[in-house]
Order: sequence, then C-alpha cells, then structure tokens
Amino acid sequence: MSFAARLLAWFDVHGRHDLPWQHPRSPYQVWVSEIMLQQTQVQTVIPYFERFMQRFPDIKTLALADQDEVLAHWAGLGYYARGRNLHKAAQIIDTQYGGEFPDEFEAIVALPGIGRSTAGAILSQAFEQRYAILDGNVKRVLTRHAAIEGWPGNKKLETELWQLAEDLTPQTRFADYTQAIMDLGATLCKRTRPGCEECPLKQDCQAFQLGRVAEFPYSKPKKQKPTRQAWFLLLFNSDNQIALIQRPNSGIWGGLYSLPEFDCFDDLSLAGVDLNSLVKWSGIRHTFSHYHLEIKPVYALKAPTVAEPDPCEPYYWLTLDEALKVGLPAPIKTLLQRALK
Ligand code: SF4
Repeated sequence: MSFAARLLAWFDVHGRHDLPWQHPRSPYQVWVSEIMLQQTQVQTVIPYFERFMQRFPDIKTLALADQDEVLAHWAGLGYYARGRNLHKAAQIIDTQYGGEFPDEFEAIVALPGIGRSTAGAILSQAFEQRYAILDGNVKRVLTRHAAIEGWPGNKKLETELWQLAEDLTPQTRFADYTQAIMDLGATLCKRTRPGCEECPLKQDCQAFQLGRVAEFPYSKPKKQKPTRQAWFLLLFNSDNQIALIQRPNSGIWGGLYSLPEFDCFDDLSLAGVDLNSLVKWSGIRHTFSHYHLEIKPVYALKAPTVAEPDPCEPYYWLTLDEALKVGLPAPIKTLLQRALK
C-alpha cells in the first residue's frame, strides 16, 4: 500500500473524527481552528474554539465585532497577532467576497495571517481540493520517514519538503488525508517517545529502520557568534601599581573593574606607552551570549609617562593584591593572577 493509503487506513480507525471544527467542516470553522492550532495543541484549542463559535458564529459577526472583544475571546491562547489578523481577514472577506470564504489558493494566501500551509489545510479540508500542508507535525513525519538530513527550516530543504508533501498527497480524500497526517504527527510521530511500533509507516520509515528516530528533524543550527578582538593593557607604575578602570554600569561587565581596553594595537599609544616596549602575552578567549571576545593582553612595565586616554574613564592605581580584591570579570582576574606570578 502506498504511503497515503496506509495513512488513511490508519486514520479510519485511529484518527480524530470528532473535533468540533469537523462538524460541520465549513471553511469558516476550518479557518478559525487552523489559526488557533498554530503553535497550540488540539486539547487547549477546543474550549477556545467552542466559545469563539458561540460568540462569532459566522464571518459577518466576526467582521462586525469590536477588536477588543475578539481579543478578549483569544485571551489565554497567546500570539495575539493571530486574533488580530483573523479579525482583519474577516473584514476583508466580508467586504471583498460578500462574506463567503474564497476557494482559491491565491485569494486565501493573500489574507492576513494565512500562509501556504494554512491555505492548503483550508482548501483540502473545507473545499476538498488537492493541496498539501507542511506544518511542524508534517515536517517531523516527512523528515523522519525519508531520513532527511538538515534543518527543515532551511529554505532549500523546505522547498524539497513541500515537493515531497505534494507528491505524497493522494488523488482522493484530501480532507481526510490532511487530517490523517496531522493526527499521525500529533499522536504517534511525536517529538519525544514516538509510537513507532503502532505506526502504519514504520515498514519504510527510514529513521525507524535505521534506529535514528531521535535525530530527526534536525534542530536549528546555532548561529555562529562573531568574534571581537580587544587589547587589554596591564600597565604598571613605578610603585608597582596596576591601572584599572571601572566599566560603565550598562553593557558587559557593568560596574566591574577591568583593564584599560583598546580596539587595536596602535591605540595603546594613547595610554602614553612605547609600543616597542610592550610585551605581548598569550591571549584568552571569552564567550558572551552574543559574541566571542579575544582578549589580547599586553604588559607594560613601569611606564615612564602615563596618560589616561579617556577622562571619563580614570585610572585607579592598585597593587595587584588590592586589585584582586575588587570586583573583576573572570578573564581579567586570570590575567592579574598571571601577573602576580
Ligand atoms: S515509524 Fe516512528 S518515526 Fe517513522 S513515521 Fe512512524 S512514528 Fe514517525
């Protein structure tokens, strides 16, 4: 049996057939449910959907309602832009389509808050048209079934997944097929502890056959953090005191003491040191939440003339013992301990 045939046979027995938006499966009900189901699970949505339908039983009522009242019925579902877009779209349908939900893809996808997958879900479920969907559940099923390597949010991969979703869509029972693949993703092919043993797709599910189910779908790759370099000056006076500055309260290391910092090596001359006499130490790499900092320490022993490059950032002269007692960022403390040795 084909992928779709097995899925539909499973759906006939195990699928969800009593969801409130399935009776009747009208475009309005399907649309509202699809919007509510974005980022939200079926069991959470059901009571919201029922209350919403009681108050706004049709597109006209929704279009004429006050936005505050629509949002009050949305309260608790989160992602309020969904509620605002739903209201706006109802007004467009009311004025442009005489209150009749459009049945063409281009018209539906042009409505606020409706993307390709939601449009596909509405067309297949409410109008029995052959359209695929690709929501999070379906992406999980397809990436596992075909063991598709890579993050499914990647544009190229997403295009491939859409093609696959379309190829697998059968030639009949479009509404049931859409519901079936959503149900499989939500009830068996779950993110954690999927019920592969009961799955109608297990015989050719690549991830299952390879014992790699937990690896799919790949998670979003972590963004490469940029690296910034900075020169940190260990500047000593003739009394063997080191120059520290206090960091501004806002920003990294806010309020802590640190070493004078320069964006490039040549700027160190602003501190009145002879660049040729500086001793370069091995660096330290420090990672912040949004970037790496390559700390390049330079050591200036008994600088003859000491200038303070920034009057807003006066130097505090402390012995190393004293300096190690004030609040210091970890890598700066490491440098001072190194200097002490
Ligand atoms: S066999 Fe497991 S991993 Fe594969 S589609 Fe079914 S539930 Fe998902």
